[in-house]
Amino acid sequence: MFSKILIANRGEIAVRIIKTCRRLGIATVVVYSEADADSMAVEMADETVFIGGAPASESYLVADKIVAACRQTGAEAVHPGFGFLSENAGFAKRLAAEGIVFIGPNPGAIEAMGDKIESKKFAAKANVSVVPGHVGEIDDTDHAIRISEDIGYPVMIKASAGGGGKGIRVAWTRKDVEEGFPAVRAEAKASFGDDRIFIEKFIESPRHIEIQVMGDKHGNVVHLFERECSIQRRNQKVIEEAPSPLLDEATRKKMGEQAVALAKAVNYDSAGTVEFVAGQDRSFFFLEMNTRLQVEHPVTELITGVDLVEQMIRSAYGEKLAFKQDDLKINGWAMESRIYAEDPYRGFLPSIGRLVRYSPPAEGKSADGTIVRNDAGVREGDEISMFYDPMISKLSTWGPDRLSAIDAMGRALEDFHIEGLGQNIPFLAAVMDQDRFRKGTLATSYIKDEFPEGFQGTAPTDFQADLMAAVGCAMHRTLTRRASPQLDRDDWVVVAGADTRTVRLSNGGDSFKVELPETGRVLSLTDIAWRPGQPLFRGKLDGVAFTVAVKPAAEGFVIRHRACTLKVLVLTPRSAELHHKLPPKKAADTSKMILSPMPGLVVTLDVELGQQVRSGEQVAIIEAMKMQNIIRAERDGVVKSVGAKSGDSVAADEVLIEFA
Ligand code: ADP
Ligand code: ADP
Ligand code: MG
Repeated sequence: MFSKILIANRGEIAVRIIKTCRRLGIATVVVYSEADADSMAVEMADETVFIGGAPASESYLVADKIVAACRQTGAEAVHPGFGFLSENAGFAKRLAAEGIVFIGPNPGAIEAMGDKIESKKFAAKANVSVVPGHVGEIDDTDHAIRISEDIGYPVMIKASAGGGGKGIRVAWTRKDVEEGFPAVRAEAKASFGDDRIFIEKFIESPRHIEIQVMGDKHGNVVHLFERECSIQRRNQKVIEEAPSPLLDEATRKKMGEQAVALAKAVNYDSAGTVEFVAGQDRSFFFLEMNTRLQVEHPVTELITGVDLVEQMIRSAYGEKLAFKQDDLKINGWAMESRIYAEDPYRGFLPSIGRLVRYSPPAEGKSADGTIVRNDAGVREGDEISMFYDPMISKLSTWGPDRLSAIDAMGRALEDFHIEGLGQNIPFLAAVMDQDRFRKGTLATSYIKDEFPEGFQGTAPTDFQADLMAAVGCAMHRTLTRRASPQLDRDDWVVVAGADTRTVRLSNGGDSFKVELPETGRVLSLTDIAWRPGQPLFRGKLDGVAFTVAVKPAAEGFVIRHRACTLKVLVLTPRSAELHHKLPPKKAADTSKMILSPMPGLVVTLDVELGQQVRSGEQVAIIEAMKMQNIIRAERDGVVKSVGAKSGDSVAADEVLIEFA
């Protein structure tokens, strides 16, 4: 076996690879950029090599520097992780020429599959069902229109070299093609340095289902079943699971066989993924093959018990696969949530910054038999940098069946505490709680279908309304007993959002009896684990374990359970009477302002004092995390004042423009 491996990547995947190397007794070298000098991967590696500036083009993407680092440390092989150089055939060839092993497929397979046009040709030859379309390059917009009309709208315009959800556009009409074809071409040129475009039928309301394959250098290829990744935003995966709730045994077998046939057709000899779009009727069509380890590989590992990184290392070393197709079985169900540094309440805008608090749920098997796994490359105090992917971690759970995996995910998300930047945990929790998700009626349009107005949190369920009242009261009582015991009492009025109710709280310590005199119900709040100042309150309400995030606020608390956040006031009956007589506080009128939706840099601010602006008109561009966000007026108006200029840094909610 190899004695030393270099990891040409960063973040969670570098950490993930180190863990397997340690178990196999292989020493690790991690290369790092300026932005990653203090990273967790650097801390865990046996050796490290600095390779340059923070932009990937100065460090992680420079093959020369990776080769030099191998020479310097004597590493015999390179694991590229995903992204960066992982699907770069030139890099794989270069390593081979230097006598260094690439832990991934042979360059021929990368070349054949790395290009979407080429891979479709291979797929068609291997009798894999492909999306109907034009498998070939397209000369110009007129040609694109002719092809689109032959295929029939809607169609998808795609960059052959595309990846990561980039270089893709749906066209419903001729006009969409006229606009979309040049746009995709320009984006492809800019992002991939390759402007070859093809067009295929857009499968409506499809599901994304992919097959994990694993091959060796002796001609053996097996598949490790499917993953479903239909919960996507902007063609990027957010929640993945294995197996898929759509497939029956017969379809699973067919898809698996086609994936293996395609892999064999290109002499595939490592871990790879064959992606399909599937109709609700279980028809399926080949999309592309990813010739690398996939972000969502943990769910496959959880249902098969196979360590895919280990298998990649073994096959790169020349070992034969230690298992045959019949040795592999699906055991239970696994879910993965991608925890992103983005603010779901503000249209999922990227949010960078320091992880002021970072406390993931405990990993491993719990008393009920479910498993939690968290793949992360960060620690408390680390920075989520603007230079790389905004993923904070991948939280996975396993259960004997789908609903137990979902419930375990819901609980694990409750126990995940992050402060310092926007993160999508409440959004992920909302999905876990949705009926449609729990029924498994998925589609790639799921997020658009279920959150047409974006995400604003969810209204309290009956359980959550009880929970907020009980927890608010319990915290208030604990604080009162400490600070002013003479004010301690059993009867309180709790105002939680729109709900006001009387609560009688007795006993104390780590459990309370919670009486609700208005309805005559009695709840029990037990197993309390919370001390004043702690951000998470854990306990059981009528035996149901929960964790809520709590923050002190003026006259009360802000409490969040999953996707439901409420301001909770705990008052004496007397002050509750007064409270209801107070006129409700009016929110500041911001309808005449355009606010910056996120912190960022003003690239342009295109209006002048006195200018008439129409609804929908572009007024500014704010750049954050390398993404330019166009800010548009939401109403007509005449500009009364301008609050920023090009080059300024602005905070979230800073006033950009005020109308008269
Ligand atoms: P997956 O199916 O594993 O989600 P993606 O296509 O979303 O695959 O990409 C996986 C990873 O590779 C992501 O971290 C993404 O940002 C990165 N990635 C994808 N394409 C590119 C590319 N062309 N250049 C750099 N990174 C990329
Ligand atoms: P990438 O290389 O960026 O991952 P893919 O070709 O895998 O690009 O497409 C990304 C996503 O776009 C898929 O997961 C799927 O949801 C959607 N998609 C791609 N092609 C089609 C299609 N022909 N019809 C419907 N949806 C598609
Ligand atoms: Mg894809």
